[in-house]
Amino acid sequence: MTAPNIETIVSLAKRRGFVYPSSEIYGGLGSAWDYGPLGVELCNNVKQAWWRWMVYERDDIEGLDSSIILNRLVWKYSGHEDTFSDPLVDCRECKTRLRADKLNDGKCPNCGSTDLTEPRPFNLMFRTHVGAASEEDDSSLVYLRPETAQGIFINFNNVLTTSRRKLPFGVAQLGKSFRNEVTPGNFIFRTREFEQMEMEYFVRPGEDEKVHQEWIDQCSQWFLELGIAGENLRLYEQPKEELAHYAKRTVDVQYRFFPEREDAEKQWDELMGIANRTDFDLRTHSKKPEDAEGKRLNPDSTEDLSYFDEATKERFYPYVIEPAAGVNRTVLAVLMDAYTEKTNDKGETRVILKLHPALAPIKAAVLPLAKNKPEIVALAKSIKRSLQPVLRAVYDDTGGIGKLYARQDEIGTPFCVTVDHQSLEDNEVTVRDRDTWEQERVKVVELEGYLLKRLNK
Ligand code: ATP
Repeated sequence: MTAPNIETIVSLAKRRGFVYPSSEIYGGLGSAWDYGPLGVELCNNVKQAWWRWMVYERDDIEGLDSSIILNRLVWKYSGHEDTFSDPLVDCRECKTRLRADKLNDGKCPNCGSTDLTEPRPFNLMFRTHVGAASEEDDSSLVYLRPETAQGIFINFNNVLTTSRRKLPFGVAQLGKSFRNEVTPGNFIFRTREFEQMEMEYFVRPGEDEKVHQEWIDQCSQWFLELGIAGENLRLYEQPKEELAHYAKRTVDVQYRFFPEREDAEKQWDELMGIANRTDFDLRTHSKKPEDAEGKRLNPDSTEDLSYFDEATKERFYPYVIEPAAGVNRTVLAVLMDAYTEKTNDKGETRVILKLHPALAPIKAAVLPLAKNKPEIVALAKSIKRSLQPVLRAVYDDTGGIGKLYARQDEIGTPFCVTVDHQSLEDNEVTVRDRDTWEQERVKVVELEGYLLKRLNK
């Protein structure tokens, strides 16, 4: 099925408590969003699924959580101070600021004017100051990190020595990044504050191309396993002129975020980038000059980040393969992909969010068929409490059963557990499946095992 457009998701997200416009009571803040009770669960589930896949289910990856604010020199030597910028143009007609590389045929998308200024670089890093120094004092200047990756490179020796790893191995990190985007927008697709899931995989030079291809294949597979339809995913090979200064080759996993666009090529945009960063980062942060011209001489670093191979007695700078994804873009893609509509036997159209059970914010909703019957309410509440240590369950009695089912379908809850008069006698409940609407009687004592089995299928 072709996914719905982003506007449909914006309205569902606000209505049901996934995502709200931020600072709304003060008029909002352009392109900032807050995650509500269901949104925070969905984000956490995406992050947990990634961490499990990346760290727990492999033998060769460690985790890390580095600071958001790092020494400014990190960004000097990584190249971000000089080159982490977008080309900016101003529309002379309506004064809108635009990204030169995202213009439609050289025209302002706001007013259609072609009277634009020449492009000039605009650095995307947010600046702030540490300590009580004044804003003019350059020695206190720091940045909010625009990517999590650098925190991994500067800890390369720490992780290597404390984990006693040998190549190849990787370091995974999850966390907030900040970019002062010129044109944020499209809901949570592009914001100035967002979360990244990045992993830096260190390999011997020469093995990089093969390992890069393996990661490209595995990453596409991961999105399929999250339940995203293959027809809405594709790989995009970045042409040479698009490559970042450190990259030898980059392939993006793209999602069809904009199905409503007429130009089929513009329907797709990046969900995850998988880059071969070469040995650029470890070299640039190393204290020793490596090339004959002393090009990458780093007088500020106190450490050499090269690797010594005990077996071959060689010393070299490992190459790095980096799969980098956005939590928020993944959340948007899974919401769009899970969105379906189904008509019931009364001819009413219902929204069903067919989220993968591992991502669903709530796994089971326990519903009493009659809320004025204390024994039914008591049993339903006790079932909810017995489930809560092992899975996210809720109790809801705020409407008739049809309304309660519809509400859970719309937020993607895989199972509704209904307690009725019969339950008081036979200690069985009705379990309703979100996707098929089929119902099954299950013994209360077997409910936990039954749900866990079906949730992990
Ligand atoms: P784009 O070309 O869309 O600006 P990028 O190529 O600069 O993205 P990367 O530096 O490769 O992005 O970052 C890795 C991932 O982080 C992206 O695939 C995306 O999922 C996420 N990401 C990057 N910038 C943003 C943003 N402003 N808002 C939300 N997510 C982002």
